[in-house]
Amino acid sequence: MKSLEEGPSHIDMVEPWLEALMADYNRDSMAQRDQYKAQVHLRGSVLQEIIWWALQSLPDEILVGLDFDGSLPVRQDVAAQFKSEHEQNDLFQGQGYVVTEAHIVNRGDSFSVHHLPEEWIDGIYSQDRGSRAGRFTHWLHTHPNAPALPSEADADAAQETQGIDMILGLRFTPEGPLPWYDDYEGVQRSLGSKQQTPRKKGFFARKRLPVLGIAPSGHAIHDIQLIAFHKNGFGINVVLVNDYGSPYILDHNIESQ
Ligand SMILES: [Zn+2]
Repeated sequence: MKSLEEGPSHIDMVEPWLEALMADYNRDSMAQRDQYKAQVHLRGSVLQEIIWWALQSLPDEILVGLDFDGSLPVRQDVAAQFKSEHEQNDLFQGQGYVVTEAHIVNRGDSFSVHHLPEEWIDGIYSQDRGSRAGRFTHWLHTHPNAPALPSEADADAAQETQGIDMILGLRFTPEGPLPWYDDYEGVQRSLGSKQQTPRKKGFFARKRLPVLGIAPSGHAIHDIQLIAFHKNGFGINVVLVNDYGSPYILDHNIESQ
């Protein structure tokens, strides 16, 4: 069972450019907090790890199981900053604890990615915990060169989730067999929303894409989108925190607010 596992680093080693994007995302999460019913705190080093995995697994999507640390409740001072006026407790398993662990459990296309391979289905759990075997509290899957918006298959798969579902959308070049596909309806949430990529299509628009950072795989990253949602359909606000539970915040962002 350990073969597919790679635990997150215990030292916060997030790339500076990604840290800045996370701070930007957190600023949006704070500004839009009243649109959510709950928040989830995700460790930034875990998100970075998942982004690298996603780009190493192309052209497949990957399914990542996420777990929280039961000894690591979210910091109450941080939770208060991101608290929605509609906030509800006890909406999902693991609510109130920092997500600290990620494991790749599957890869495939947008449909097959949700169906776990045999070795991940534990006989004890499979009966009452559905086709994704319920081994993990939360789930994240990737949308290579597509926005982070749930498809019908994604919404179906989420019905078995005890915690919450997340989608990571990445826009990158070289595109390989997957050119950016953006014909979806819905609210997109990017890291680094100030540096929005041009929405025009075509060669020249592509040439002007800003490069947010370069992944270890060599891909230039142009957009990173992240959303979280509950199986009942409402959005969950994501707060990206460091190993001490503090949100990534840029000093100049605080000054400008
Ligand atoms: Zn999907």
